[in-house]
Amino acid sequence: MSTSPKNPETPRAAAAQRPTRADDARPQVRPKPEGWKQPMGPDGRPQLQFAQSARVTQPPKHLADMSLEERIARAKELGYPGFRAKQLSVHYFQHYTSDPSEMTDLPAATREAMVSEFLPPLLTEVRRLRTDDGATIKFLWRLFDGALVESVLMRYRNRITLCISSQCGCGMNCPFCATGQNGLTRNMSTAEIVDQIVQANRAIAAGELDAPSAAEIAEERDHAGLGEETDFAEEGPEPAAGGTQRTGPQRVSNIVFMGMGEPLANYKRVMNAVHRMIDDAPEGLGMSARGITISTVGLVPAIRKLADEDLPITFALSLHAPDDELRDELIPVNSRWKADEAIDAAYYYYETTGRRVSIEYALIKDMNDHGWRADLLADKLNARGRGWVHVNPIPLNPTPGSIWTSSEPEVMQEFIARLEAKGVPTTLRDTRGKEIDGACGQLAAAED
Ligand code: SAH
Repeated sequence: MSTSPKNPETPRAAAAQRPTRADDARPQVRPKPEGWKQPMGPDGRPQLQFAQSARVTQPPKHLADMSLEERIARAKELGYPGFRAKQLSVHYFQHYTSDPSEMTDLPAATREAMVSEFLPPLLTEVRRLRTDDGATIKFLWRLFDGALVESVLMRYRNRITLCISSQCGCGMNCPFCATGQNGLTRNMSTAEIVDQIVQANRAIAAGELDAPSAAEIAEERDHAGLGEETDFAEEGPEPAAGGTQRTGPQRVSNIVFMGMGEPLANYKRVMNAVHRMIDDAPEGLGMSARGITISTVGLVPAIRKLADEDLPITFALSLHAPDDELRDELIPVNSRWKADEAIDAAYYYYETTGRRVSIEYALIKDMNDHGWRADLLADKLNARGRGWVHVNPIPLNPTPGSIWTSSEPEVMQEFIARLEAKGVPTTLRDTRGKEIDGACGQLAAAED
């Protein structure tokens, strides 16, 4: 369109966006759950669970739940010298071990007792699936109460990304995402969130994550687009052609909160976990905040609170539709906070932190992939400013033949071209791990 409306937020302006190009003549498929029954609330709308039930118990307290100061205080309380807390922290955050037999700097007589006090087992490995020639590993973990969660580890050329879970299940009830289909079981504790990283680091240190193939390196358009290159000293030389050497960082460098759960619905524990990630070793993992991405369905007050933390973490909003008419059905939480409020909050995040934000947009055939929606999205983003945002469309991880099918390649190209024509930087993301149900929206944590 040559002239963009002054106020693209009004429904009339939205309607005026609908041009008559061929791709806009395609049908409008409505979101509806397939193969499962979406729980409805008393208001007849999809049920939302913002909090866990009051009856759930949390796992035993672990060193990673506490700051170093708190660990020292706890050690003293138990009758140990305060510096034991630091030694235990080195074992956990720098050597990735919770095994007392490896802790020869601790007195043999009290080692076991200290370890069971500070490093109770949190994540028990149930299963591990490898794909992409060993460059992607999906872990299935059992928690102390039997709850199951997953994390996905991906090695790229210059980074290692771990996609982590923040809740057991999810209460946001999005009809296209496998995780929400069983509702929310409970929030994960800070240490359960962090332990996913420590365990992944342990696997990497044991040489279990292979280098990506040359073909994958050539296609690096995936999660790697989120977050930034981190300034890790461990980075090695470029891989040789064929790329089978293990080069690059030797531990997790990037985190995406895109596993199971809605991170901003478990705000306190997630933020505490972020602190453990960025605290200097041995208080924490000493990771770069820039390499951490928090993705949300759009809990507006929590987005603003996150912005006010003023940490240079990367923020991603799962928008998936620029118009409320569709987003109301696609993202049930849109009944609370509308698309424009979510975009305003994302803009506030940018204004406050100076960090460019990402808009995630799963392209779903004939549902949200119409050209007019790309135009409307671009206008809404541009109405707030320029250079503050980029769009990450991602082909829906499909169930072929269902209403939840990925857009056709030429439709995706047109969608991207329309955003770019209006000056919105856009990168198509492809996901790793589809063959092992490890890709976005496929994490359901069933044991078989
Ligand atoms: N609850 C958070 C983070 C978890 S999901 C959020 O909603 O952002 C991470 C991303 O995967 C989100 O953008 C989510 O919308 C997307 N996603 C969910 N199901 C998907 C599917 N079937 N195909 C592609 N992306 C999907």
